[in-house]
Amino acid sequence: MDCMIEIRSWLLALGVMLLQVSCCRTPAAADSTATADESPADTCLTDTVPPACSVTAEAATWQAGIVLDPLTIQKLNADSLFKIRAIDSTLLQRISGRSYQPGLGLHVSRLRYLQLLHINAEGRTQTGELICNRRIASDLLQIFRTLYDSAYVIERMVLVDDYEADDLRSMAANNTSCFNYRTVSGTGRLSRHATGMAVDINPRYNPCIDLRSGSVQPAAGAPYAHDRDTCTHPMLIRRGDLCHRLFRQYGFRWGGDWPASVGKRDYQHFAR
Ligand SMILES: [Zn+2]
Repeated sequence: MDCMIEIRSWLLALGVMLLQVSCCRTPAAADSTATADESPADTCLTDTVPPACSVTAEAATWQAGIVLDPLTIQKLNADSLFKIRAIDSTLLQRISGRSYQPGLGLHVSRLRYLQLLHINAEGRTQTGELICNRRIASDLLQIFRTLYDSAYVIERMVLVDDYEADDLRSMAANNTSCFNYRTVSGTGRLSRHATGMAVDINPRYNPCIDLRSGSVQPAAGAPYAHDRDTCTHPMLIRRGDLCHRLFRQYGFRWGGDWPASVGKRDYQHFAR
């Protein structure tokens, strides 16, 4: 293992252990006040930071993209590393003007930060993060926990803000992400990602195809755009595989199942 990564892993482990003593937030309850088809128009437009989003030391401690060694995971217990958090002021600062547009659409109190683990392309445990709508936070945590326990490969899970909320850059890096206040590519219509209700999984291996123009996003996903049933790549999502079954089980619709009338096949996209 790379020495620096090992040191960072132990620093992370120490921080997490301290947090176990100081505070553990339980998963958020389902949002009974939200409408069935929440759109930015029906959400709160004020942009003050509610009390629930006050600064906590714990959120600042988590760092995504770190490879953990098996001993660290054994000592910490993976259960303690999957958490749902409110968006604190540190996170708000990180996403404002990028994936989150203050004063527009969804109020930050409707978003949740997920800290989790995933198995990376080298088969090693890596720290990950995701911001989503609070309505699906618990379900997503369950889905990603099951994927982790099943050694399902997800190459990278960092906030799209690390790519300045540029979806093309995030996709090109094969980054799995959720919330991003943006429009549907090529339209002026807000995406389900704008409300944190859609997730893109391993986008390079599950590209979005425009059925009319034939264009593929990300471009690096072109080899995986067609003949998908014959491809056995572990990050490629197929109808009926574990990833597809899990999201369907929790009520998500898959972009690979969209009818031709939509004009696109978006194999990375699960939305509710
Ligand atoms: Zn998507």
